[in-house]
Amino acid sequence: MQCSTCGANSVIEIELTLANDTTVNFCSCHKCETQWWNRDGESLELNAVLDLARKPNS
Ligand SMILES: [Zn+2]
Repeated sequence: MQCSTCGANSVIEIELTLANDTTVNFCSCHKCETQWWNRDGESLELNAVLDLARKPNS
């Protein structure tokens, strides 16, 4: 994965499964320290991740 901010390839990706079984990826760039979230290849704002985490199990 490439950092969309600085273009470096030194991005770590951590997969997390939220309470409602939604899987999101937390990404962090070693070079510029940008951090972002991904779900199904789409970047998410932190608030959107928190909203997903709050949803009750269906
Ligand atoms: Zn970067």
